[in-house]
Amino acid sequence: MNLAISERLKPLLKQIEDFVSNELIPLEGEFFHKPFKDLVPLLATKREKVKSLGLWGPQIPKELGGVGLTLVEHGYVSEALGRSPLGHYVFGCQAPDAGNIEILHMFGTKDQQQEWLEPLAQGKIRSCFAMTEVDTAGSNPTLLEARAVRDGDHYILNGRKWYTTAAEGSVFAIAMMVTNPDAHAAMRASMFIVPTNTPGFRILRNIPIMGETGSDYASHAEVVFENCRIPKENLLGREGQGFKLAQERLGPGRIHHCMRWLGISARAFEMLCQRANQRKIHGDGGTLGDSEITQLYVAELAAELHGARLMTLSAAWAIEHLGMSKARDEVAMIKFVVANVMNRILDRALQIHGGLGMSDDTILAYWFRHERAARIYDGADEVHKSSLGKRILRGHR
Ligand SMILES: Cc1cc2nc3c(=O)[nH]c(=O)nc-3n(C[C@H](O)[C@H](O)[C@H](O)COP(=O)(O)OP(=O)(O)OC[C@H]3O[C@@H](n4cnc5c(N)ncnc54)[C@H](O)[C@@H]3O)c2cc1C
Repeated sequence: MNLAISERLKPLLKQIEDFVSNELIPLEGEFFHKPFKDLVPLLATKREKVKSLGLWGPQIPKELGGVGLTLVEHGYVSEALGRSPLGHYVFGCQAPDAGNIEILHMFGTKDQQQEWLEPLAQGKIRSCFAMTEVDTAGSNPTLLEARAVRDGDHYILNGRKWYTTAAEGSVFAIAMMVTNPDAHAAMRASMFIVPTNTPGFRILRNIPIMGETGSDYASHAEVVFENCRIPKENLLGREGQGFKLAQERLGPGRIHHCMRWLGISARAFEMLCQRANQRKIHGDGGTLGDSEITQLYVAELAAELHGARLMTLSAAWAIEHLGMSKARDEVAMIKFVVANVMNRILDRALQIHGGLGMSDDTILAYWFRHERAARIYDGADEVHKSSLGKRILRGHR
């Protein structure tokens, strides 16, 4: 297993790190105080700059206009981008588009790829992913209720979804709908490409989350499908394959999140150390960093971060070399391990910053609010732990 930074990656990584430090981190003040939609024109110029540097779409295959990095290489890049909340968006590897690009690339027909995948990969349009429903448990998607019923050359879609991230401003949604209610639980649902200008598709609201309603890409919507009529050609894969496609989409999607969380963790950890070294808490000039309790926190968190990074890179290697199904256990592990390491680091970093940590004068409070969700989306901690635990015990029977 080779997890080293490849020779071809070294110069790219340096360029990306510099771009994040010089072009994106300085925008954080504006990011906190303006709705995201007001930043979109400025971010469009940054995206153009990224394209002109040949850095657009680190994980997107070369034939679609991306850099075509391996998953291990993307792990390093994604950590570098995760240091800014704008990194992934500006480089064209943001969720949920990254997952949708992957699924359209793997399962889309030629026509679907031409119409939806190409402009999406080039960053000309955005998309969203609508699976979770208000009234059924997202942790068990076999309970989904939203329906798609075949009507001649069309499907008619009805249902209510929520937490459809980035729906505002998206040109299409990939929606998971029940097509075969009487089939085996794993074969009931199918995925559809739903243009958001289809009559009957409506955003009811952007859900206020931890005090922020958000806008444009930085939002999570509740959406309704009311007799949405879409051509049968908008079915992705075959009828009943929805969960199979979702597994393909969520596996790499989970590791992309973990890679981003490593960047957040690394920056928060650095901020914690810097503050500990600077903050004088004793009359003799002694700092927070001089206290043993802080040293203990620092040592523990450094070890946790190191472990989380190695586990993530190892899972990326396993996906690439052994395939998604053999990497399943590692992916489940990193999902809850990295989410929790990040949350502990954010909590400690905020604590060390005291009142400053609670304010929006640093990025910590923003991340503390928004990244709590990491332990819930793409499978809550308990869901991954219980399925992993079951598989491990089965292996010991
Ligand atoms: C910020 C954010 C963005 C999201 N983006 C999207 C998106 O773009 N598209 C989309 O479709 N969805 C999205 N989601 C939804 C997300 O995937 C669901 O919230 C998640 O799957 C959990 O489903 P639920 O909210 O219905 O919780 P429930 O399924 O009701 O579960 C509630 C809690 O119960 C516990 N639990 C669940 N199952 C078990 C079990 N078997 N054993 C023990 N405890 C258990 C867990 O602690 C869980 O958090 C997003 C969510 C958030 C918070």
